[in-house]
Formats: sequence, structure tokens, C-alpha cells
Amino acid sequence: MASSGGLLPFDTALDRLLALTSPLPAEQRTILDAEGRHLAGDIAARLTQPPADVSAMDGYALRFGDLPGPLRLVGESAAGRPLGIAIAQGEAARIFTGAHLPAGADTVAVQEDAVVDRGSVAFPVSGPPGIGAHIRRRGIDFAEGAPIARAGDRLSPARLGLVAAAGHKTVSVHRRPRVALLSTGDELVAPGTAPAAGQIIGSNALMIAALLRSFGADVTDFGIVPDKRAALAAAIRSARSHDLLVTIGGASVGDHDLVKPVLEGEGAAIDFWKVAIRPGKPLLAGRLGEGADAMLVVGLPGNPVSAFVCARIFLGPLLRYLAGDRSPHDRLETATSAVGLPPNGSRRDFMRATVQSGPDGPTITPAPRQDSSLLSVLAGANALLIRPENAPALNAGEIVPVLSL
Ligand code: AMP
Ligand code: MG
Repeated sequence: MASSGGLLPFDTALDRLLALTSPLPAEQRTILDAEGRHLAGDIAARLTQPPADVSAMDGYALRFGDLPGPLRLVGESAAGRPLGIAIAQGEAARIFTGAHLPAGADTVAVQEDAVVDRGSVAFPVSGPPGIGAHIRRRGIDFAEGAPIARAGDRLSPARLGLVAAAGHKTVSVHRRPRVALLSTGDELVAPGTAPAAGQIIGSNALMIAALLRSFGADVTDFGIVPDKRAALAAAIRSARSHDLLVTIGGASVGDHDLVKPVLEGEGAAIDFWKVAIRPGKPLLAGRLGEGADAMLVVGLPGNPVSAFVCARIFLGPLLRYLAGDRSPHDRLETATSAVGLPPNGSRRDFMRATVQSGPDGPTITPAPRQDSSLLSVLAGANALLIRPENAPALNAGEIVPVLSL
């Protein structure tokens, strides 16, 4: 293996980052306020669905052996308003989708086949295919006591619907990660303000905040701090109640890159600094304090694309892990590379790229310019084309791993 110059491989760095922490404690939420949360325990149905045999169609409830009729109509069973009496031989009841099947009936015939004449109904031409047709049996969706969701499952819209239908009012879910964001750089001014000579807009915080919220975090932006030890130390202290502090900028080796020394001065144990990835080599991870009130710290590089890519590939899995996801890692896709690429070095490369769907599956084209300062390129990309460590040269038409954005 070619040397990566003492840099930590990506997979090792991510493993070590997750090993610095554990899923956040459980709390009780109402189902009206639990969307996107991960369950802290398994869930069983409290109800049976459907609660009775019900009709799957609008039509007539009857006894299959009485067909083709005519059958005497004895009443109606609608959703929420059951018939209340049993059907005897030679009888039928009007029935609608979701309505309880009356006692005595064994089949539903669809209304399109029915010929109605005053108080009777007949099926002279065609009828139900067999006994039991068009009936949804009691409990075919779930039965009381049956497991319907497992610890770690995400309350997606569909799963939330399932949990509600199964009779739950509250659920035990993991707490959402609370993240503090801190930008550092003497050159930075807040978005929406006019930069003076030598200044630029500190645009990373709102970009990273939006990304982290999409991973389920509650994010508080602590603003821009100058490259001064005392100011940085004070800002770090003020963020101490959070689960995770994310700093942006100042994590490299320049004279003004103070994040690492100031964190260490505050007592942080730095677990790793510098990862064998491109972009984003000067990524830092560690922990301030121990036990229940420990705060995780991740220092992102300041270059906008580096900050974004590092947040996407490290903080996505980390925040999902904290939020209780039992499989927090990103799932890679594949696509056909539209271009050939040179051999890769010892750092895993996350190239800004565009995936297009085509008749033979997706194709991916890396952006021609890959400099880690180019926000315009990042904003136009919809995927990262991943070049593994030490990958050999690649021809156009070969399959490559892809992380969609
Ligand atoms: P640094 O990591 O502090 O050496 O910063 C690397 C580059 O990213 C420099 O060009 C900084 O001006 C720029 N940069 C740092 N922080 C931000 C930020 N919050 N928003 C936009 N650019 C930034
Ligand atoms: Mg800086």
C-alpha cells in the first residue's frame, strides 16, 4: 500500500469518530411530534387491523351459494355504520369499501356486476370469482401484539402512519442531537453584510447548518469568532451544553489555525487530526469532558467544499448514529463513469460530479474543476464520485462508487 503520509484512512477515521460517542438517551414523544425520529425500543400493535372482516369493494354482501340470485336486499353496511343484523339464505346487503362484512355473508360481489330491481339484486351475467371474494380479513395488516417496528427504525411518514394506526399515542424515541456551530476566521463577515477590503462572507455556517438539520440535528449557530485564542476559548465554553461542537476553519497548520491548540487548552482529547481524503484533509475529531456531559468536537476545514464534503461523509453518519439509527453509514450507489480518470493517490477522493439517468442506468461525470474552494461547482453537483485509495486508472464506461448529494 502506498503511504498516506501518516493520515488516517477514511473508514478508520469514521469508525473512531463513532466510537467516541453513543446513541443519545430515549425520550417520550407524542406521535404528532416524532417524525424522523428513531425508535428507542421495539413496538407492538395495540390494535388489530382491520378490526373485523371488511369489504374491499363497493358492492353487495351475500352468500356465494345463493348466486346468481335474485336476492332480497335487507339493508346497508357502510364504513363506520355496520348493518347490525345477519344475512340469511336468499338475502344480500348493500356494502361499501371498509364496511364490516355482515354476519352470515361470505362473499362480496362488485356493484358493476349487479342488476338491481326494486328490493332485490341479481348477478345474471358475471359475479364474484369465488367464495370469500373481495373481503379483507380481520388482522391481515397487523394483529394486536404483533411486532410492527424495531428499535432503531426511523419514523418515516409511512411508519408513523403504521404506528398511529396500531393505536399508539406516544413513542419512545432517541433525543435529537444538539449541535453548536462555530465559524472562525478574521476575514469572515456574516451573510447579508457587505465585506470590507480583505473580508469575505462567512457562508459556511448556514450551508453546514442546513445540511446538519437534514441529518436530524437541532443546530445553533454561535456565529463568527476571530482568530484569537481567548475569543475562541470563550466561544467553545459557551457551547458546552451541546452534544456536538462543529468548528469551521482554523483547523489546518497555518499560524492562525488555532482550533486544535485552543481545544487542547480547554482540556479536549483530540482523537485524530488529518484524514486521507480529498478534499478535507485537516479534519479534527475529539471530545471535551467525560461521561454524560462530554461534548464531541469536530473541526471542519474552512474551504467551503472541504467543509461540506467532510460534513456530508462524517457528520451524516455521526448524527444518524447519535439519533439512534442502527445502520448510520452512507449507502453507496454505482454509476458508469462518462470519462476516463487517472490513477488515484493514497487519499480517497470525493469528486464533485453530476449523475444523469439513461437507458442503460445512471452515468456520472465529474466536474472539470475540483478545487476545494469552488462553491459554484459544489452547488451544481448532485453526487460525489468516489475514487478509492490507490485506485488504478479508469476507462470511460467503467462502474464507479457514488454518494448522492
Ligand atoms: P482555514 O481552514 O481557516 O484555513 O480556511 C480555508 C479557506 O476557507 C480560507 O480561504 C478561508 O477564507 C475560507 N473560509 C474559512 N471559513 C469560512 C467560512 N465560514 N465561510 C466561507 N469561507 C471560509
Ligand atoms: Mg482561517
